Amino acid sequence: MSKKSSLLSDGMVNRTVSEQNIKESILHHLRYSLVHLPEQATPRDWWLALSLAIRDRITDDMSDTQIVHNRDNVRRVYYLSMEYLMGRMLINNAHNIGVYDDAKQAIEELGLDWEQICDEEMDMGLGNGGLGRLAACFLDSLATLDLPAIGYGIYYEFGLFKQEFQQGKQVEHPDTWLKYGTPWDIIRPEYSQTIQYYGRVETVFDSAGNARPVWVDTRSVMGVPFDIPVAGYDTKTVNFLRLWSSHSTEDFDLEEFNKGDYVEAVRSKAMGETISKVLYPNDQNANGKELRLVQQYFFVACSLADILRRFEKMNSNWTSLPEKATIQLNDTHPAIAIAELTRILLDDKHLDWDTTWDIVTRTFAYTNHTLLPEALEKWSVGLFEKVLPRHLQLIYEINHRFMGEVAQHWPGRNDILQALSIIEEGDHKMIRMAHLAVIGSHTVNGVAALHSQLLKTDLFPHFDQFYPGKFTNKTNGITPRRWLLNCNPGLVDLFKQYGINSEWPKHLEHLRKLENFLDDTVFLDAFMAVKHQNKVQLAAIIQKECGIEVDPSALFDVQIKRLHEYKRQHLTLLNILTLYRRVLNNPDMNMVPRVFIFGAKAAPGYALAKNIIYAINAVAEVINNDPRTQGKLKVAFLPNYRVSLASHIIPAADLSEQISTAGKEASGTGNMKLALNGALTIGTMDGANVEILEEVGPDNIFIFGLNVDQVQDLDRSGYNPHHYYHQDSELKAALDWLCSGHFSPHNSHAFDDIRYSLLDGGDPYKVMADYRAYMDCQQRVSDAYQDRPRWARMAVINTARMGKFSSDRTIQEYADEIWKLPAHSV
Ligand SMILES: *Cc1c(COP(=O)(O)O)cnc(C)c1O
Repeated sequence: MSKKSSLLSDGMVNRTVSEQNIKESILHHLRYSLVHLPEQATPRDWWLALSLAIRDRITDDMSDTQIVHNRDNVRRVYYLSMEYLMGRMLINNAHNIGVYDDAKQAIEELGLDWEQICDEEMDMGLGNGGLGRLAACFLDSLATLDLPAIGYGIYYEFGLFKQEFQQGKQVEHPDTWLKYGTPWDIIRPEYSQTIQYYGRVETVFDSAGNARPVWVDTRSVMGVPFDIPVAGYDTKTVNFLRLWSSHSTEDFDLEEFNKGDYVEAVRSKAMGETISKVLYPNDQNANGKELRLVQQYFFVACSLADILRRFEKMNSNWTSLPEKATIQLNDTHPAIAIAELTRILLDDKHLDWDTTWDIVTRTFAYTNHTLLPEALEKWSVGLFEKVLPRHLQLIYEINHRFMGEVAQHWPGRNDILQALSIIEEGDHKMIRMAHLAVIGSHTVNGVAALHSQLLKTDLFPHFDQFYPGKFTNKTNGITPRRWLLNCNPGLVDLFKQYGINSEWPKHLEHLRKLENFLDDTVFLDAFMAVKHQNKVQLAAIIQKECGIEVDPSALFDVQIKRLHEYKRQHLTLLNILTLYRRVLNNPDMNMVPRVFIFGAKAAPGYALAKNIIYAINAVAEVINNDPRTQGKLKVAFLPNYRVSLASHIIPAADLSEQISTAGKEASGTGNMKLALNGALTIGTMDGANVEILEEVGPDNIFIFGLNVDQVQDLDRSGYNPHHYYHQDSELKAALDWLCSGHFSPHNSHAFDDIRYSLLDGGDPYKVMADYRAYMDCQQRVSDAYQDRPRWARMAVINTARMGKFSSDRTIQEYADEIWKLPAHSV
């Protein structure tokens, strides 16, 4: 790795920290930052000292990156996301700046255990699932590709809740990730922003006698930025993630205070601090809560003010804003930015409407992440008017002008006007944030080929006709650094032994060379030996976390993702119950031993999802303690699924369950992580599974079930789940048994809701319709697993052909086709 000397330290290179020995740097931080002696230091102290030593080696490059970007007045992409699921950062940062081996050696020379020290780090879990993890992978790729980028989000004091099981039921605890502080943030009070909300709009006349709306009687709150450095892999570029923490403004409580109402003053002060307190734990579900709208506006307004401050330092003409700033909206959560930029340019900078709207629509692009109706954000007009009265007026104006254009395009078509309006009419008028995002952006993208197609044909057909070419696809990806280099050292060593060049973490397509060894049995055995070693390590985690002993030579069947009906963890449960019955009824049957491994959090308010967790745990309890399943079946539900746990499960997986109802999973990224680490996929024709199939070929993946067209046909012709239940005796027996009380002796009705949803509830996710195809496909999986050389070949082909799913490819496509953003080396 070649590193230029720091611009800041030109002429005094010897004094930069990167020239020091890491061990000395760790001891220095232990003594002077933590004020501990080595003899007293706990593992956490060592972890913190090590992290600070690594951070020192990043911050010079971070400063240089900003100096160069500012000096050259570069075009930047601003990524706006309510969620960033960063996970742990120590190992990733050490790898990316090229000091991993040195750091590990230093820790070992100090007589410490590397794994134990790294295990001290709390995950930075400021996201729910795929959407937040995508944002984190994108930041890694942006820096690695030397693209000038800043991520903006919220500095939640509590990230996604910590999950525990009590008698098999999910219990949530606050995620206190900041309890001992974090070494990775840098507070920047000098860039604080004060923003307004609530209040009302008045009309005043300016000195020329023109009526102007003014937003008055507002409340204010201050955003204080915390910057998280994001070091690229094998490059000097260090971008940053700027997260806003909310604080009350000083003048805010003055009036109450002077009235002598001290307690009320302090209470209202606490309101300001509440905004960034906690991440809403809903995945794929809109949330109509006032505080959520306030969170969205808070981070958007702070971020835009920061972006415009930076623009104004170097530029004087607002019409050139779209040349210097391109803003990507990660879902509709930050879509209020479209109205906020409109407000600033119109009300504060006094531009006219046409100029303003031209700037706005050349600045924004929007990524859609879902077609699920329950996840499409809508805000009630009444709530919006209360929190953001001026923005509501502007949204009406945007909509009015847009409706005029639509009426010209489709004269007399009131149905189309209604379908495209930002305002949903009805008893309760609602603002459709996706419509605002589509109208206010120059480009809209879906996150996998199938999803982007459905976006055009099913969700937004008239928008697509009205705006030809606006809708595009950018298939998601994952960073090969975190999801292979950091998490699977055994496989990385094997690549080295077989002369795979060390460029693969930046050029994932180079792993294609693994296919040269498909007929080399020594290589195939070595590949499977690495997998086995990873399974031994996961077995130890399962033992520790669940108290369950599992055999590493069994097939590890993994389903890790948020708990959702559309992801169909209950289909896997029906498979487990069916296999269990087969074992009991036919003890001499030849069967591939399986360990089912789950990881999943359910939204705290999603009762059926929580019930499915309880059901899986209840069935697991019975199966794991039934001597008749010995050596055949085990079920382990690991609590508190998160990025750091994923990093241990994924390298140990044999089979990757990607079994969503076709048309419901926009992309999935867990599917990519698992395939990259040599797990074979059993999956439906949904999301990026379709493209994984294209890459690996039909012989190296297990595809089953209804496709999108068949799902839609079933819905049109009147789907009846009872039909499948009565026709398939194994299915009927499995579901009846689950609900017999056998697995819930204290409450025979414990799982009635699952049964109801699958039968009388109409089975909206077609679990019953796909059951038999799934069971048959699982038999094909078992047959393949018994042919070890064949399985090994398939696994290697999966690892070898994941090049397309590097987030570097995804980000390069965004940069070339949406952002028109050139790289800028430091
Ligand atoms: C990758 C990832 C996800 C997304 O998984 P999907 O299977 O694509 O839903 C969710 N949570 C964590 C912790 C992840 O690492």
